[in-house]
Amino acid sequence: MTDRLVFRHALIIDGTGASPQPDATVIIADGVIQEIGGLRTKAPKGARVVDLKGRCLLPGLIDAHVHPGNIELRNTMTAKLPPAVYVLSVCRNLETDIQLGFTTVRDAAGLDPGFREAMARGMIQGPRLFLSVTPLSQSGGESRIAGTGPDRPAPRNALNICPEICDGPDQVRAAARRTLGRGADQIKVFADGEVLASQESDRAVPGQWKFSVEEIKAAVDVAEAGGTYVMAHAYGPRAIQNCLAAGVRSIEHGNLMDDETARLMAERGVYYVPTLTVYDLLLARGREWGLDDTSQAKLEAVGRQGRDALEAAFRAGVKIASGSDIVGPAQALKGRELAIKAEVLGPMGAIVSATRTNAELLGVADRWGTVSPGKLADLIVTARNPLDHISLFEDGLKNVVMVIREGAVIKDLIS
Ligand SMILES: [Zn+2]
Repeated sequence: MTDRLVFRHALIIDGTGASPQPDATVIIADGVIQEIGGLRTKAPKGARVVDLKGRCLLPGLIDAHVHPGNIELRNTMTAKLPPAVYVLSVCRNLETDIQLGFTTVRDAAGLDPGFREAMARGMIQGPRLFLSVTPLSQSGGESRIAGTGPDRPAPRNALNICPEICDGPDQVRAAARRTLGRGADQIKVFADGEVLASQESDRAVPGQWKFSVEEIKAAVDVAEAGGTYVMAHAYGPRAIQNCLAAGVRSIEHGNLMDDETARLMAERGVYYVPTLTVYDLLLARGREWGLDDTSQAKLEAVGRQGRDALEAAFRAGVKIASGSDIVGPAQALKGRELAIKAEVLGPMGAIVSATRTNAELLGVADRWGTVSPGKLADLIVTARNPLDHISLFEDGLKNVVMVIREGAVIKDLIS
């Protein structure tokens, strides 16, 4: 399974933001980067040698906000798929993700832990998964079936994964504990209105705030006791500031962020995951994919502000992570996030955000996320230099010519 590999003449972009290192020799064994040397470094006997002349070696990409389980644009539609179709569609998405060069992804809720199990059994080749499983929402929140008396959560998919509907710190605490018990790696909370309505009469809009500080704090306490953290869906200053006060680790979307909120995020060392690709795609193609009027109106209210928020966060010195948040079709466009981000952060900044910064957010930076000796060999090779052609990641299926996960070659278009 694990290969002894040597790369020659690699141009390394190591994920730290350092200048690219030309003509490097990289020795990989036992799933780990053993050595990075120059032209004179000797290859160990019996190793497979790959000449990377003209190509670039980077850390495997990380997407910190994905939904490979959101097969249709709306959860209500995904929930109606025949379970076999649903499962096979998710498998295709996961297989595509790793072919694009994403060796790690963080699911922002809904994915069944069975997919991780299937991967561990070698039944699917996919990225490492960090799962949120059942997100925490509240009564009157979006993810519900209306008109059934007390709020009943609507399933997100055909495997009947439902959000946890919880009110008050005690219920939130119990819901967070149940979620960890299901195998979640982190807790996802909905702290603000959602763009994609689960029903036409949906009134909650992005920019409102949902959970109180005390409620979010209860989730944070449970997460921290379990050795993990909370990621929060939030758009507006009030929702974001509630999350900051409660000790949340990452703010997802944040499109309506203002300078003051950005300053507070920087001060507290909270990560920002802007998710620009999903708005780009929905604004361009949402209608064609069946976006309803309610969702379209909400999209109009936040879709174009994502870039301003990213600029505000960048100016304030916030730690900027990277997530595409693609729902429905077009899952293969995850790499577009780097190109969009590069407009604000530059190509190197975009690469760092999708590698080292995302690894820090996930708490794995000591093990992978950069190209350096001692790190796990999660690596990709690109056909050209992404610093000159950052949009190459948009067509990762073609332009990412090698993918290595923990030393195992998953994709190889070179030999
Ligand atoms: Zn999302």
